[in-house]
Amino acid sequence: MDINTESKGLGVVVITGGSRGIGAQTARLFAKHGYAVCINYKSQAEPAKKLVTEITQGGGKCIAVQADVSQELDVERLFATTAAKLGKVKVLVNNAGILKPQMRLVDMNAARINEVLQNNVTSYFLCAREAVKVMSTTYGGSGGTIVNVSSGAARSGSPNEYIDYAASKGAIDTLTRGLALEVAKEGIRVNGVRPGLIYTDMHADGGEPARVERLKNIIPMQKGGQAIEVAEAILWLASASSSFTTGSFIDVTGGL
Ligand code: NAP
Repeated sequence: MDINTESKGLGVVVITGGSRGIGAQTARLFAKHGYAVCINYKSQAEPAKKLVTEITQGGGKCIAVQADVSQELDVERLFATTAAKLGKVKVLVNNAGILKPQMRLVDMNAARINEVLQNNVTSYFLCAREAVKVMSTTYGGSGGTIVNVSSGAARSGSPNEYIDYAASKGAIDTLTRGLALEVAKEGIRVNGVRPGLIYTDMHADGGEPARVERLKNIIPMQKGGQAIEVAEAILWLASASSSFTTGSFIDVTGGL
């Protein structure tokens, strides 16, 4: 890995789902540290556009690329566009994810389960594949880092709310471990972050916008987390500061 380039913060980062929530705070933080940032989004162009303006007006380098990362051709276009506009990708933050309304397993149908798995798992595999092609020394690259945003749900299983979502995040932890070992000799480090209950719009998609408030008392620190607190862990795992860390996870859960 080109540690000098990485430590100077001169790399290019792709942040999937970088327009809102945890992804948006991660984009702001990476830009502040000198990375050229590609924020990806699926359908809401407005928040992406606003964030690009904010970052570029603050002196950062940033583009937004619409792409549904659950779709293979979109992922290939996302990486090709980033390479053409910003240069070779050094960091991938696999962050885009979806949540469906809370329900028990007995009420779930195949369409819902497949949608969750395609958006939360297939997407991470496809983006990681494109990143490895660019970063791996085996294919002429100069190394890089991948950070997968998983969830504390991978450990809790999210009973009575969304076992499908929790299982998708369990798959991400396995991807993180397996890929880290597969590319460890090729200059690529792969790590995961498992956020707990974080204040973002995602809980509204699950049908309960105030979910963090309802559950915050079960968190040992007695409060919900902020997206920036997750972003700081992502930045550390992506940067040269964590240069001997791979196949590892940081729980950002307030102790839950
Ligand atoms: P969020 O506020 O709902 O934002 C989701 C982002 O992902 C948006 O930018 C959205 O784009 C994008 N997105 C969704 N599906 C996509 C797709 N197929 N292709 C491209 N972009 C897509 O989410 P968040 O709460 O920040 O969550 C970010 C990550 O953290 C997720 O992986 C989530 O599972 C994980 N996480 C969150 C929490 C929490 O408490 N919030 C806890 C644990 C883990 P549009 O704006 O176009 O829809």
